[in-house]
Amino acid sequence: MTDPISLAQGRTYLAIPGPSVMPDAVLQAMHRPSPNIYDGELIEMMPALTRDLCRVARTDHTVAIYIANGHGTWEAALSNVIAPGETVLAPASGRFTHGWAEMAEGIGAKVDLIDFGSSSAWDLDRIAEALRADKAHQIKAVLAVHVDTSSSIRNDIPALRAVLDDLGHPALLMADCIASLGCDQFEMDAWGVDVMVTACQKGLMTPAGTGFVFFNDKAQAKRAAMPRVSQYWDWQPRANPGLFYQYFNGTAPTHHLYGLRAALDLILAEGMEQVWARHERLATAIWAACEAWAQGGALQINVADRKHRSHAVTALRLTDGRGTPLREFTEHKLGLTLGIGLGMEDWDGCFRLGHMGYVNAQMVMAMLGGVETAMAALDIPRGQGALEAAAAALVA
Ligand SMILES: *Cc1c(COP(=O)(O)O)cnc(C)c1O
Repeated sequence: MTDPISLAQGRTYLAIPGPSVMPDAVLQAMHRPSPNIYDGELIEMMPALTRDLCRVARTDHTVAIYIANGHGTWEAALSNVIAPGETVLAPASGRFTHGWAEMAEGIGAKVDLIDFGSSSAWDLDRIAEALRADKAHQIKAVLAVHVDTSSSIRNDIPALRAVLDDLGHPALLMADCIASLGCDQFEMDAWGVDVMVTACQKGLMTPAGTGFVFFNDKAQAKRAAMPRVSQYWDWQPRANPGLFYQYFNGTAPTHHLYGLRAALDLILAEGMEQVWARHERLATAIWAACEAWAQGGALQINVADRKHRSHAVTALRLTDGRGTPLREFTEHKLGLTLGIGLGMEDWDGCFRLGHMGYVNAQMVMAMLGGVETAMAALDIPRGQGALEAAAAALVA
């Protein structure tokens, strides 16, 4: 990297797994003076906004909105249904499940963690074993991370639902869809998910700062039986506000709401099935390129089985440990920012491609071309034909 010339000037691409690329329509919707928070447009837009959030989550139930990132929604959701001393089961296939489990411990829950490592999806037999052994139904909830953004593993939520149903276990099924909503297919009601948390800065394409907790009647019944719930996290007034300020327990995140409105309009105009199909097709092209590179022996795709790969993020490993130099090259030389390795023992050798939200085929081809350029510049051994393979996968 002695070449002094940078080629990064121009429109850059933040290809990390959140925050994601923001559409101009979202940015423009936010560029306005502060609105009245007591009367008028902002208040009037709320019923349609919550209805459309529920459409994206595929639920006829209820959503509570928080001024919070994803971590905030973890605590919000737990605070409404898990009392101190109660047990949660956390099947982990990456860093984010550990994070949610630690938060449960922080509010006084007992955590039964099953660690599947950072390259494997859930083993449903082991989860079933833990639930079967819980004859007294001490486990009140299963913390299920749909897509773990650190490992890029996508877990099978309907299969987990089937395990709970087969055993007749009453634990709530709580899903983290922070990295999957608006990217991978997710169907809250059809899949029997009781609580779902997500945040706005990934598939929902809005600047970080608002988070959402969706819940059904079963979860609400558990909420109603709680000895106490922190007033700020309580989802009850937020989901059923008598007055506008109760939506947020204080001042609304005014500009976020306008940005979110614009993002939901984009998603619903495209259509959920089309959004999922686009992410899937783009992911397939990325995998095709990565599989070609992997032939050279220096690059590994963290998740071997395609059916357990996220359509929104891909975790990769360079066996020579040069993930960080590769990322530095793409960022400073090319204007392409890739995600850091997260939650891996050899994190420095890992990097992640974010392909969530407002991403199209030409952006994916540019990202892959950037990785190819960096591998060439750093003399990283790689199989040939990666871009041709991606191109073929795009038009399959
Ligand atoms: C990003 C992410 C989080 C954390 O969200 P923050 O907004 O960074 O707090 C949690 N879970 C998953 C699966 C994520 O992708």
